Amino acid sequence: MRATITRYHMLNFNDHLAIAVSGGKDSLSLLHILAKMNRRRPKTKLTAVTVDEGIVGYRNEALAIAAESCLQLEIPHHVVSFKDLYGFTLDEMITKARSKGQKELTACSYCGVLRRKAINIGARQVHANKVATAHTLDDEAQTVLMNIFRGDITRLAKERPVTGEVHPLLVQKIKPFCEIPENESALYAYVKKIKFQDTPCPYASEALRNDIRWMLNRMESKHAGTKFTVLRAMDRLRPALEETASKEAFKTCVECGEPSAGDLCKTCEMLRQIR
Ligand SMILES: [Zn+2]
Repeated sequence: MRATITRYHMLNFNDHLAIAVSGGKDSLSLLHILAKMNRRRPKTKLTAVTVDEGIVGYRNEALAIAAESCLQLEIPHHVVSFKDLYGFTLDEMITKARSKGQKELTACSYCGVLRRKAINIGARQVHANKVATAHTLDDEAQTVLMNIFRGDITRLAKERPVTGEVHPLLVQKIKPFCEIPENESALYAYVKKIKFQDTPCPYASEALRNDIRWMLNRMESKHAGTKFTVLRAMDRLRPALEETASKEAFKTCVECGEPSAGDLCKTCEMLRQIR
């Protein structure tokens, strides 16, 4: 992971890094490794940020597990909730969306957008200048193929191991695990006996990602190195893509004042639909 951090210039001296910790194996492995690196050569301030989406019977367990690891590692833990930020828990949003007969948006599509924004706000609340997420090599390779299969070239160009500084309110994101296969991150958690949440989210329904995960795993077992090749190919394609992809400057949402691609951000658009 140290090589990844260096290769992509992820960290600078005196950074304050927020770590997005869900309570799953990947984010807790990342938290433990970053804490360990920092104990040896302390130069980064670390704060864990957990998003409480408000999923009854699922999120509470993860929150407790995340809090326990932070206490053990002596890392401050900050929780941001959908209820506080948006006025509804994810459970309430899904119930409302269903009662209005909305079928086009799944729980994952709501949650993905709302969580990204929540992590960014949480990182700002603790005054971090960067935020690390535990996306693994598997996640990254899947995302590349998903964007290709959907024909979403703008998104394809945007997904990077380190995001650019495109808006003053958008905290820079880094992905220190982007070259680490998911099974290695899981192995670390098992070997170090890190307690993590094992039960999948009750809403998990990303059909396309599941198909691509299955396909990539099958390819990897027949042709070792496939996932890594996808990541490297993307690194080489990105400069060309960035030139052709539409260069829309980030705007500021007229409703919430957060960074947005259009006049109204995706979150406010979604919240309008269910109100
Ligand atoms: Zn907004």
